[in-house]
Amino acid sequence: MDKEKKVKNRLEELANLIKKHNYNYHTLDKPEISDKEFDKLVKENENLEKKYPNLILNHSPNKIYGSKVKSNFKKITHVSQMYSLSNAFDNKDVEDFVKRLAKFLNLSDYNEFEFICEPKIDGLSLNLVYKKGKLVSAGTRGNGLVGENVTQNILNIENIPRKLIGEFPDFIEIRGEVFLNKSDFEKINTKLEKKSKFANPRNAAAGSLRQLDVSVSHSRPLKFIPHGIGECSKNFNLIEDYYNELKKWNIIPNHLIKKCNSIDEVVKYYNQIDQSRSNIDYDIDGLVVKINSFKLQKRLGYVGKNPRWAIAVKFSAEKANTKIKSIDFQVGRTGAITPVARLEPINIGGVIISNASLHNFDEIIKKNINVSDIVEIERAGDVIPYVTRLIKKNYKLNVKFKPPIYCPICKSDLFKEQNEAILRCSNTYGCSSQKIGRLIHFVGKKSLNIDGFGEKQIKQLYNLKYINKVEDIFNLNKFRSEIIKLDGWGELSFSNLIDSINNSKKISFDKFIFSLGIRFIGEVNAEILANEFKTLDVFISSSNKVNVLENIDGLGPKAISSIIDYFSNDINIDTIKNLKKHLSIVYAKNTTSDNFFSNKHLVFTGTLTELSREEAKYLAKSKGAKILSAISKKTDFLIAGEKAGSKIDKASKLGIKILDEKEFLKKINL
Ligand code: AMP
Ligand code: ZN
Repeated sequence: MDKEKKVKNRLEELANLIKKHNYNYHTLDKPEISDKEFDKLVKENENLEKKYPNLILNHSPNKIYGSKVKSNFKKITHVSQMYSLSNAFDNKDVEDFVKRLAKFLNLSDYNEFEFICEPKIDGLSLNLVYKKGKLVSAGTRGNGLVGENVTQNILNIENIPRKLIGEFPDFIEIRGEVFLNKSDFEKINTKLEKKSKFANPRNAAAGSLRQLDVSVSHSRPLKFIPHGIGECSKNFNLIEDYYNELKKWNIIPNHLIKKCNSIDEVVKYYNQIDQSRSNIDYDIDGLVVKINSFKLQKRLGYVGKNPRWAIAVKFSAEKANTKIKSIDFQVGRTGAITPVARLEPINIGGVIISNASLHNFDEIIKKNINVSDIVEIERAGDVIPYVTRLIKKNYKLNVKFKPPIYCPICKSDLFKEQNEAILRCSNTYGCSSQKIGRLIHFVGKKSLNIDGFGEKQIKQLYNLKYINKVEDIFNLNKFRSEIIKLDGWGELSFSNLIDSINNSKKISFDKFIFSLGIRFIGEVNAEILANEFKTLDVFISSSNKVNVLENIDGLGPKAISSIIDYFSNDINIDTIKNLKKHLSIVYAKNTTSDNFFSNKHLVFTGTLTELSREEAKYLAKSKGAKILSAISKKTDFLIAGEKAGSKIDKASKLGIKILDEKEFLKKINL
C-alpha cells in the first residue's frame, strides 16, 4: 500500500472512532475509553491533517465539531468537596439514623432535632460558583473533588441566574440537581431515532448536559433545583435560612421541602411523598432527611464520602417477574462462589436486566428456585439486581437445585467459614478465577486506577499467559509485538495502556494497601493502617504483632487475623517486594502543624459528659491524633472521663500524661 493510501485509511478510521466515542460519551453517557485515549485520537487526526491537507476528509471530525475538535470537558476542582448520601430503606433505618446522631452528639433525648426533608431528585449533581454575585463556573460532581466544567452548557437553564440579586455573599458554591421533567423527556425521545433514545430521564439529562455542541444543551429544557451549599463567605444558622436567602437571590428551592420535628413526622412525610410520586413531574427515588442546624452539621461531620448529618430514605425497589434461563457460578477474588441467574431480559424501571444475584446456595435451596422457574427480580438504585422469590415453579422440570461440590473453575475443594453461608474455593493462590479477581481489583478505580484496563483486557491477557500475578502488569512491554496483533488491540491502544500503567505508578500508601486486596481491608481499614504505620516497612514489620494490631482503634478482629494470614505467606511477601521495585509509594507527610494533638497517640477511658466518645475521637483525629485502644509505652495522653478504671493506674505507672475532659476540650479548642 502506498503511503497516501495508508494515511487516508487511517484518517477514515479516526473519523469513525472519534464519532463513535463522542456518541458514547455525550449521548449514551457511557464512555468506553479514557479522556486521555480520546485526546490521543484527536491529536493524531490533527497531526495527520496538518501533514496531508490534501487528504482531509469531507466528514473530518474537525469539520463536524467546529474548527478544532474539542476533547472531552475540562476538569474543574471544587472548592469544597461534594458528597454522596448514605441510604435508609425503612422506618427502622430512619430511627437508627436519628439515634446514631443523638449518641454521637451525646444527647439523651433524640426528639430535639429539626429535620429538613426534601425529595431526592434523580438527576445530576451540579456545583455553581458565584463570585460577587456573578456566575463564574458550573461543574458536575465527578469524584467529589474534581468534576467536569459544564459552564457553557447550563447558561440557558431557567433557575440558574447569571447574576444574583439582593444581598448575596462575596463567594458561594450553590449545589443542586439538574434534571429533565418526565414529560420533556418523552418529547425529546419521540424526536430521536430508535437507536439513540434515552433509557430514562436521568440518562437524558446527563446526555443533554454533556454535549460538545452547547446549542444542543440549550435546546433541551433542563431544570435546576438547589439542595445544598459548599464553601461560602457567609455563615447561616439553618438550612431553612439558606433556602430563604436563595429565594431572595432569585434561585428557587424545591417547594416540596418540609420541616419535621420528629421521626414520626419524617415517616409520615416519606409516605405522603411516596404515594404522590406519580403526580410529581420528575423522577425521584427517595426522601432526603437533613439536620437543619449548620452548627450540628459541622459537629457531625463526614464518614468517608457521606455526611453523617443526612440520609436518603429510598422508596421501595422496583420489581418485575421473569424466567431464569440458567444459573452460573462466579468465583470472586476471595474465593467466594456466587450463584448468578441468567434471565430472560426484562425492563425494570428503564434499565434492561439480564443477570441477577442469587446470593448464596442456602438461599436457592430455601426458596426452592431452579432453572426455568419464573422469579421476582428487585432492582434498588445502583445495587446489583437480585432474585427475591419464586413466582411460578416449572414442575415439568422436577429436579432439585444442587450446589457445586468442587470449585467450578479449578475443581479444588470448597469450604464454609464458621457462621457464614458462603461457599469458598480453597485454592487461594492457584485458582485462576481468584487470580483474575485480584488482578481486576489491582487495576480498578479505587486501587491503581489504570485507565483502559478492565475485566475484558485482564481476562484476555491472563488467558494468553502474559500476566499471572499483579506485578506482571509492569512487564507487559515484553509482549508488545504479540499484544498489538490481538483482537481489539493495536499500536495506539497498547501504547496508551503502557502510558496509563506508567501514570499509575505513583500511588498513595493507603491506596497501595487497598490494592493488595487483603480480605477485610477495604478503603476505610486501608486508611487506618496507612495512618498508623506511615511506611510500608513499618507496616510489614508490625504485621505479625497481634498486640500492636489489636491496639489500633477501629480495626476489628477479622481484619487483624486476615492481615496476619496475608503476611505469613511468602507468595504475598514476594509480591510486595516486586511491587516496591515498580511503584513509587507516596507517604503522607508528618503534619508539622501546631495542633497540640498532631501525631500524638491518645487513649480514652471513662465517660465523657460534654461529648460522646465517638465525637471526641473524631475531633482528635481531625487534629492529627492517632487513637489506640490500650495503654502502652507509645501512648502520649490518656483522656480520662468520669468513672475511669484501671487505665489510670497503668498510665500513671508508665508516666503518661492524663487529661480530664475539661483539659481535653481546652486543648482541642472547644
Ligand atoms: P448518591 O449519588 O446516590 O449518593 O446520592 C447523592 C446525590 O443525591 C447528591 O450528590 C445529589 O446530587 C443528589 N440529590 C438529589 N436530590 C437531593 C436533595 N434534595 N438533597 C441532597 N442531595 C440530593
Ligand atoms: Zn477455584
